[in-house]
Amino acid sequence: MIEVTLLGTGSPIPDARRAGPSTLVRAGGQAFLIDCGRGVLQRTAAIGVGADQITALLLTHLHSDHITDLGDVLISRWVSNFAPDLPPLPIIGPPGTAEVVDHVLKALRLDIGYRMAHHADLTEPPQVEVEEVTAGVVWGRDEVRISVGPTNHRPVAPTIGFRIEHRGASVALAGDTVPCVGLDELAAGAGALVHTVVRPDLIHALPVQRIRDICGYHSSVEEAAQTATRAGVGILILTHYVPALQPGQEDEWRALAASKFDRQIELGDDLHRVEVHPGVCAKPTG
Ligand SMILES: [Zn+2]
Ligand SMILES: [Zn+2]
Repeated sequence: MIEVTLLGTGSPIPDARRAGPSTLVRAGGQAFLIDCGRGVLQRTAAIGVGADQITALLLTHLHSDHITDLGDVLISRWVSNFAPDLPPLPIIGPPGTAEVVDHVLKALRLDIGYRMAHHADLTEPPQVEVEEVTAGVVWGRDEVRISVGPTNHRPVAPTIGFRIEHRGASVALAGDTVPCVGLDELAAGAGALVHTVVRPDLIHALPVQRIRDICGYHSSVEEAAQTATRAGVGILILTHYVPALQPGQEDEWRALAASKFDRQIELGDDLHRVEVHPGVCAKPTG
């Protein structure tokens, strides 16, 4: 079984109820953080997962809202671990990831120095192992396999999606993208597809062109649902709602997805959790 938890279902716009984009996928005793938006560690804390329990960080792209709390993840993992041999944090992302990680660590250089000067047992700065990829298999450990495929979020490029598989269960994570062949291939036959979505019908009513621009490089709810149908996935999990999903609007968003996808649809607030079982008989939880 693979467990998907929507840690942050928000967007770049600060929201009192929603953390920034981030999803936790747990499988085979491993915990993968996909993107690390605003407030991500507050959400992992809410489900009892500490920064030092994150097996690897997977980044779909380098838009600021998806990496806002990268520094927090790096520093918190480092200072909250008390085991003597914490392995470097694997960070898998598109080309450009190493530059971003390097600069974040540089920005935190003084802080890292203060802490090392103060704590004798912190003998080296936070260690990372960055892998930049656009396609292929990137992880194979203890029956968990992760593959990567290209998505289309231009002019943000390159961007990637992930597919995590464990003992016959599988989940694809699209990140931000318009419908594209790369995502179709990555998601083909997956138990679940986690997809970021926007509502052009609501966004186009806003009198601000910069907000309307958002529609040009994201999938609408209907487009995400069409992708899920083409790929033949069992469960469509919607997240990163733009504009923010308001209380009581769930059925409206669900109906839009249901107009193009006739299987299980999951959406909701931060910490919404979905179990993805092997085969098509995926079983939801609250
Ligand atoms: Zn983006
Ligand atoms: Zn985004």
